[in-house]
Amino acid sequence: MPRLGAAADTTDIYTFEPELLSTAQCMGDACAICHVRWPRPRHALGALPDGSEVYGCAECAGIAAAHDAHAGEPELAAR
Ligand SMILES: [Zn+2]
Repeated sequence: MPRLGAAADTTDIYTFEPELLSTAQCMGDACAICHVRWPRPRHALGALPDGSEVYGCAECAGIAAAHDAHAGEPELAAR
């Protein structure tokens, strides 16, 4: 088996732990990251192990995307 970097096999789908989310977050009624319910989160951030999609607000979706693009860089404060 070829040797891969630790983050080399990440996929587009991030799996959330249902135990870490509220019911509203699991149902897609609240942002999976910041719990905001309004405006209703519409950006799929990932999925639960059972395949249900988990949603986030635009702001958190942007953070997640930026974090993805800069994986390994600790500069979360840059904007
Ligand atoms: Zn959010």
